[in-house]
Amino acid sequence: MKTELDKINRYTRRELTEDEVYTFSVVLCDNDIDRDGERFTDEALETLSTLFLGKTGITDHNAAAANQNSRIYDCQVLTDDTRLTSDGRPYKYLKASAYMVRTDEKRSLIAEIEGGIKKEVSISCTASRRVCSICGTDRTKSPCSHINGKTYGGKVCHIILDGITDAYEWSFVAVPAQRSAGVTKHFTDCAHTHSGNFAPDDNHKLIRELRRLAWFAGGKSAVQAMSIACKGKTAGELEELRKSCQRLAAESAAPQLTDEGDSTPGNGSYKV
Ligand SMILES: [Zn+2]
Repeated sequence: MKTELDKINRYTRRELTEDEVYTFSVVLCDNDIDRDGERFTDEALETLSTLFLGKTGITDHNAAAANQNSRIYDCQVLTDDTRLTSDGRPYKYLKASAYMVRTDEKRSLIAEIEGGIKKEVSISCTASRRVCSICGTDRTKSPCSHINGKTYGGKVCHIILDGITDAYEWSFVAVPAQRSAGVTKHFTDCAHTHSGNFAPDDNHKLIRELRRLAWFAGGKSAVQAMSIACKGKTAGELEELRKSCQRLAAESAAPQLTDEGDSTPGNGSYKV
Protein backbone atom coordinates (compact mmCIF):
# COMPACT_ATOMS: atom_id res chain seq x y z
CA MET A 1 0.00 0.00 0.00
CA LYS A 2 2.95 2.31 0.64
CA THR A 3 3.89 2.58 -3.03
CA GLU A 4 0.22 2.83 -3.97
CA LEU A 5 -0.13 5.78 -1.60
CA ASP A 6 2.94 7.42 -3.12
CA LYS A 7 1.36 7.16 -6.55
CA ILE A 8 -1.94 8.55 -5.25
CA ASN A 9 -0.30 11.43 -3.41
CA ARG A 10 1.21 12.70 -6.64
CA TYR A 11 -2.31 13.85 -7.49
CA THR A 12 -3.46 15.22 -4.14
CA ARG A 13 -3.05 18.67 -2.59
CA ARG A 14 -1.95 17.19 0.73
CA GLU A 15 -0.64 13.75 1.66
CA LEU A 16 -3.52 11.34 2.19
CA THR A 17 -3.31 8.44 4.62
CA GLU A 18 -4.28 4.86 3.93
CA ASP A 19 -7.48 5.22 5.97
CA GLU A 20 -8.62 8.19 3.93
CA VAL A 21 -8.56 6.59 0.51
CA TYR A 22 -10.60 3.89 -1.14
CA THR A 23 -8.90 2.20 -4.10
CA PHE A 24 -10.37 -0.02 -6.77
CA SER A 25 -9.47 -1.21 -10.23
CA VAL A 26 -11.40 -1.08 -13.46
CA VAL A 27 -10.88 -2.45 -16.94
CA LEU A 28 -11.11 0.59 -19.19
CA CYS A 29 -11.06 -1.22 -22.52
CA ASP A 30 -9.53 -4.16 -24.35
CA ASN A 31 -8.34 -5.19 -27.80
CA ASP A 32 -11.35 -7.38 -28.64
CA ILE A 33 -13.91 -6.47 -31.28
CA ASP A 34 -16.78 -4.65 -29.54
CA ARG A 35 -20.52 -4.50 -30.22
CA ASP A 36 -19.96 -1.70 -32.69
CA GLY A 37 -17.58 -3.88 -34.69
CA GLU A 38 -14.54 -1.85 -33.64
CA ARG A 39 -11.36 -2.66 -31.80
CA PHE A 40 -8.27 -0.91 -30.53
CA THR A 41 -4.78 -1.83 -31.69
CA ASP A 42 -2.29 -2.88 -29.02
CA GLU A 43 -0.45 0.38 -29.64
CA ALA A 44 -3.67 2.33 -29.04
CA LEU A 45 -4.03 0.60 -25.67
CA GLU A 46 -0.48 1.65 -24.76
CA THR A 47 -1.20 5.26 -25.71
CA LEU A 48 -4.43 5.21 -23.70
CA SER A 49 -2.56 3.88 -20.66
CA THR A 50 -0.50 7.08 -20.65
CA LEU A 51 -3.34 9.46 -21.47
CA PHE A 52 -5.65 8.13 -18.76
CA LEU A 53 -3.18 8.68 -15.93
CA GLY A 54 -4.57 11.33 -13.58
CA LYS A 55 -7.96 11.49 -15.32
CA THR A 56 -11.01 11.82 -13.07
CA GLY A 57 -13.87 9.37 -13.31
CA ILE A 58 -17.50 10.42 -13.49
CA THR A 59 -20.89 8.76 -13.54
CA ASP A 60 -23.07 8.46 -16.65
CA HIS A 61 -20.86 10.88 -18.61
CA ASN A 62 -22.01 13.79 -16.50
CA ALA A 63 -18.94 15.98 -16.09
CA ALA A 64 -20.30 18.29 -13.40
CA ALA A 65 -17.59 19.05 -10.85
CA ALA A 66 -19.58 17.40 -8.05
CA ASN A 67 -19.81 14.24 -10.11
CA GLN A 68 -16.05 13.77 -10.48
CA ASN A 69 -15.72 11.02 -7.95
CA SER A 70 -12.40 9.28 -8.46
CA ARG A 71 -9.05 9.56 -10.18
CA ILE A 72 -6.78 7.10 -11.99
CA TYR A 73 -3.34 6.88 -10.39
CA ASP A 74 -2.01 3.84 -12.22
CA CYS A 75 -2.77 2.36 -15.62
CA GLN A 76 -1.28 -0.53 -17.54
CA VAL A 77 -1.83 -2.86 -20.47
CA LEU A 78 -2.05 -6.50 -19.38
CA THR A 79 -2.24 -9.75 -21.35
CA ASP A 80 -4.60 -12.53 -20.36
CA ASP A 81 -2.80 -15.73 -21.37
CA THR A 82 -5.91 -17.85 -20.89
CA ARG A 83 -7.92 -16.08 -23.51
CA LEU A 84 -7.96 -14.98 -27.15
CA THR A 85 -9.94 -12.23 -28.85
CA SER A 86 -12.90 -13.25 -31.03
CA ASP A 87 -10.59 -13.16 -34.06
CA GLY A 88 -7.87 -15.20 -32.38
CA ARG A 89 -5.30 -12.66 -31.15
CA PRO A 90 -3.83 -12.65 -27.61
CA TYR A 91 -6.31 -10.86 -25.35
CA LYS A 92 -5.02 -7.58 -23.91
CA TYR A 93 -6.77 -5.09 -21.71
CA LEU A 94 -6.19 -1.74 -20.12
CA LYS A 95 -6.43 -1.96 -16.36
CA ALA A 96 -6.62 1.20 -14.29
CA SER A 97 -6.26 1.67 -10.55
CA ALA A 98 -8.32 4.53 -9.18
CA TYR A 99 -8.80 6.11 -5.80
CA MET A 100 -11.41 8.22 -4.12
CA VAL A 101 -11.36 10.01 -0.82
CA ARG A 102 -13.62 8.32 1.71
CA THR A 103 -16.31 10.90 2.44
CA ASP A 104 -19.93 10.53 3.49
CA GLU A 105 -21.24 11.25 0.00
CA LYS A 106 -18.95 8.61 -1.54
CA ARG A 107 -20.24 5.92 0.80
CA SER A 108 -23.02 4.66 -1.46
CA LEU A 109 -20.80 4.67 -4.56
CA ILE A 110 -18.16 2.66 -2.70
CA ALA A 111 -20.84 0.19 -1.58
CA GLU A 112 -22.02 -0.16 -5.18
CA ILE A 113 -18.49 -0.81 -6.41
CA GLU A 114 -17.85 -3.37 -3.68
CA GLY A 115 -21.18 -5.05 -4.38
CA GLY A 116 -20.30 -5.38 -8.05
CA ILE A 117 -23.11 -3.09 -9.16
CA LYS A 118 -20.91 -0.29 -10.45
CA LYS A 119 -18.49 -2.33 -12.44
CA GLU A 120 -19.10 -1.17 -15.95
CA VAL A 121 -16.94 1.56 -17.27
CA SER A 122 -16.97 3.48 -20.49
CA ILE A 123 -14.33 5.74 -21.95
CA SER A 124 -14.32 8.65 -24.36
CA CYS A 125 -11.34 9.12 -26.60
CA THR A 126 -10.29 10.16 -30.07
CA ALA A 127 -8.89 7.82 -32.70
CA SER A 128 -7.38 9.51 -35.74
CA ARG A 129 -7.31 6.32 -37.82
CA ARG A 130 -10.19 3.92 -38.46
CA VAL A 131 -8.82 1.13 -40.58
CA CYS A 132 -10.86 -1.52 -42.42
CA SER A 133 -9.67 -4.95 -41.25
CA ILE A 134 -10.19 -6.46 -44.68
CA CYS A 135 -8.46 -4.04 -47.06
CA GLY A 136 -6.56 -1.70 -44.76
CA THR A 137 -8.26 1.48 -45.97
CA ASP A 138 -8.27 4.30 -43.43
CA ARG A 139 -11.95 5.19 -43.44
CA THR A 140 -11.32 8.61 -41.97
CA LYS A 141 -9.77 9.42 -45.35
CA SER A 142 -11.78 7.39 -47.82
CA PRO A 143 -14.55 4.80 -47.78
CA CYS A 144 -14.20 1.20 -48.95
CA SER A 145 -16.70 -1.39 -50.14
CA HIS A 146 -16.51 -3.66 -47.10
CA ILE A 147 -19.36 -3.77 -44.62
CA ASN A 148 -18.85 -4.01 -40.90
CA GLY A 149 -19.88 -7.41 -39.53
CA LYS A 150 -19.90 -9.14 -42.93
CA THR A 151 -17.55 -12.04 -43.64
CA TYR A 152 -15.01 -11.85 -46.46
CA GLY A 153 -12.87 -14.93 -47.16
CA GLY A 154 -13.63 -16.30 -43.71
CA LYS A 155 -12.77 -13.06 -41.89
CA VAL A 156 -15.30 -10.76 -40.27
CA CYS A 157 -14.92 -7.12 -41.30
CA HIS A 158 -14.34 -4.72 -38.42
CA ILE A 159 -12.80 -1.32 -37.81
CA ILE A 160 -9.35 -1.07 -36.27
CA LEU A 161 -8.97 2.05 -34.13
CA ASP A 162 -5.49 3.52 -33.98
CA GLY A 163 -3.68 6.83 -33.65
CA ILE A 164 -5.21 7.81 -30.31
CA THR A 165 -4.84 11.55 -29.78
CA ASP A 166 -7.05 12.29 -26.77
CA ALA A 167 -8.59 10.58 -23.78
CA TYR A 168 -11.36 12.76 -22.40
CA GLU A 169 -12.96 10.89 -19.58
CA TRP A 170 -13.97 7.58 -18.10
CA SER A 171 -17.34 6.98 -16.61
CA PHE A 172 -19.42 4.41 -14.80
CA VAL A 173 -22.29 3.49 -17.09
CA ALA A 174 -25.29 1.21 -17.17
CA VAL A 175 -24.58 -0.63 -20.41
CA PRO A 176 -21.12 -1.19 -21.84
CA ALA A 177 -20.52 -1.64 -25.55
CA GLN A 178 -17.71 -4.12 -25.34
CA ARG A 179 -18.56 -7.78 -25.05
CA SER A 180 -16.75 -8.71 -21.87
CA ALA A 181 -18.79 -8.13 -18.74
CA GLY A 182 -17.63 -5.15 -16.82
CA VAL A 183 -16.02 -3.44 -19.75
CA THR A 184 -16.32 -0.37 -21.72
CA LYS A 185 -17.82 1.72 -24.35
CA HIS A 186 -15.62 4.08 -26.24
CA PHE A 187 -16.63 6.92 -28.46
CA THR A 188 -14.46 8.01 -31.25
CA ASP A 189 -14.33 11.27 -33.00
CA CYS A 190 -12.27 10.76 -36.05
CA ALA A 191 -13.23 13.91 -37.88
CA HIS A 192 -10.29 16.15 -37.24
CA THR A 193 -7.04 15.82 -35.46
CA HIS A 194 -4.73 18.71 -36.02
CA SER A 195 -2.01 17.48 -33.75
CA GLY A 196 0.23 16.94 -36.74
CA ASN A 197 0.44 20.68 -37.25
CA PHE A 198 2.05 21.26 -33.89
CA ALA A 199 5.50 19.85 -33.57
CA PRO A 200 6.48 21.38 -30.21
CA ASP A 201 5.53 19.05 -27.39
CA ASP A 202 4.26 21.77 -25.08
CA ASN A 203 1.83 23.01 -27.68
CA HIS A 204 0.61 19.49 -28.23
CA LYS A 205 -0.09 19.05 -24.51
CA LEU A 206 -1.89 22.38 -24.34
CA ILE A 207 -4.03 21.54 -27.34
CA ARG A 208 -4.90 18.18 -25.83
CA GLU A 209 -6.00 19.92 -22.63
CA LEU A 210 -7.99 22.50 -24.61
CA ARG A 211 -9.73 19.76 -26.57
CA ARG A 212 -10.59 18.02 -23.30
CA LEU A 213 -12.08 21.23 -21.86
CA ALA A 214 -14.03 21.67 -25.09
CA TRP A 215 -15.35 18.12 -24.84
CA PHE A 216 -16.88 18.85 -21.46
CA ALA A 217 -18.31 22.14 -22.70
CA GLY A 218 -19.98 20.89 -25.85
CA GLY A 219 -18.99 17.38 -26.85
CA LYS A 220 -17.75 16.37 -30.26
CA SER A 221 -18.60 19.56 -32.17
CA ALA A 222 -16.88 21.70 -29.55
CA VAL A 223 -13.74 19.56 -29.89
CA GLN A 224 -13.77 20.08 -33.64
CA ALA A 225 -14.25 23.83 -33.22
CA MET A 226 -11.41 23.89 -30.69
CA SER A 227 -9.09 22.03 -33.06
CA ILE A 228 -9.69 24.68 -35.68
CA ALA A 229 -9.29 27.49 -33.14
CA CYS A 230 -5.92 26.08 -32.04
CA LYS A 231 -4.51 25.95 -35.54
CA GLY A 232 -1.44 28.17 -36.00
CA LYS A 233 -1.59 29.58 -32.45
CA THR A 234 1.59 30.24 -30.48
CA ALA A 235 2.21 28.63 -27.09
CA GLY A 236 1.39 31.96 -25.38
CA GLU A 237 -1.90 32.30 -27.24
CA LEU A 238 -2.83 28.70 -26.43
CA GLU A 239 -2.07 29.30 -22.76
CA GLU A 240 -4.37 32.36 -22.76
CA LEU A 241 -7.07 30.27 -24.41
CA ARG A 242 -6.65 27.56 -21.79
CA LYS A 243 -7.04 30.06 -18.94
CA SER A 244 -10.25 31.48 -20.34
CA CYS A 245 -11.64 27.99 -20.99
CA GLN A 246 -10.91 27.00 -17.41
CA ARG A 247 -12.64 30.14 -16.14
CA LEU A 248 -15.66 29.28 -18.28
CA ALA A 249 -15.65 25.69 -17.04
CA ALA A 250 -15.52 26.86 -13.42
CA GLU A 251 -18.42 29.24 -13.98
CA SER A 252 -20.58 26.70 -15.76
CA ALA A 253 -19.87 23.97 -13.17
CA ALA A 254 -21.93 25.71 -10.51
CA PRO A 255 -25.45 25.38 -12.01
CA GLN A 256 -24.73 21.79 -13.04
CA LEU A 257 -24.55 20.75 -9.42
CA THR A 258 -28.31 20.71 -9.25
CA ASP A 259 -28.96 19.88 -12.87
CA GLU A 260 -28.55 16.30 -13.93
CA GLY A 261 -30.82 16.59 -16.94
CA ASP A 262 -30.21 16.66 -20.64
CA SER A 263 -28.83 20.16 -20.63
CA THR A 264 -25.63 18.98 -19.02
CA PRO A 265 -22.84 19.35 -21.53
CA GLY A 266 -21.43 16.07 -22.69
CA ASN A 267 -24.51 14.20 -21.59
CA GLY A 268 -26.09 13.19 -24.84
CA SER A 269 -23.67 14.93 -27.16
CA TYR A 270 -21.34 11.99 -26.83
CA LYS A 271 -23.92 9.59 -28.14
CA VAL A 272 -22.68 9.55 -31.70
ZN1 LIG B 1 -12.23 -2.37 -46.73
